[in-house]
Amino acid sequence: MPKPPRPRPQTRRKLPKADVEAIFDALGTANPSPKTELNYSNPYTLLVAVVLSAQATDVGVNRATAKLFEQVQTPQQMLDLGLDGLKSHIRTIGLFNSKAANVIRLSEQLIGLHGGQVPRTEKELVALAGVGRKTANVVLNEIFGEATLAVDTHVFRVSHRIGLSSGKTPDAVERDLLAQVPQRWAKDAHHLLILHGRYLCKARAPECWRCPIALWCRFADKASEPPAKAGRPTA
Ligand code: SF4
Repeated sequence: MPKPPRPRPQTRRKLPKADVEAIFDALGTANPSPKTELNYSNPYTLLVAVVLSAQATDVGVNRATAKLFEQVQTPQQMLDLGLDGLKSHIRTIGLFNSKAANVIRLSEQLIGLHGGQVPRTEKELVALAGVGRKTANVVLNEIFGEATLAVDTHVFRVSHRIGLSSGKTPDAVERDLLAQVPQRWAKDAHHLLILHGRYLCKARAPECWRCPIALWCRFADKASEPPAKAGRPTA
């Protein structure tokens, strides 16, 4: 008996440029002023909040920093508070021991190397304790208005579902996005995708029936009805 033909590996067509533009126009219309949901009052408190937010929710970080940022607004004030004082504020956040050590160390670095200011280049930012490329990109985007694109879990998932990327790593997805996002949305793309993923294109139950970009999205399992009607689990 002849062997059945081997299935060909699936290739995914790239989204046409017009569709990518329509997607970002629709996301931007739905959310004209996308911003981080982390609470902060200056570049330093944003940097601290982003470092604390790794593998934690913005809501959880905001709860912990509400009191902390009443007391601490600068690297020197953080050093005055000290490691144990900082831990007492953030112990509800996952990995708080190592995050507290990093925040103390990066505060020392900011004072020693940057006059207490948050530097504005990726190279200087990633040299700080606890700061990776994702954190640096968030700070550069939110504080300095740069068109950076930090790929977190939401951006990764949404980019795959829509068809903007099939990259296996955050860096690969970032490259795909930077090559496609229309210039006029370059600054906002990061927050547009995060907020879309957080509130609508959720991991377990995307709300496709009310999604402004459903027309162009390539996700094969779009949900046409709310979970109660379709008998699906809620997110
Ligand atoms: S249609 Fe569904 S899967 Fe596609 S982006 Fe919208 S919510 Fe996400």
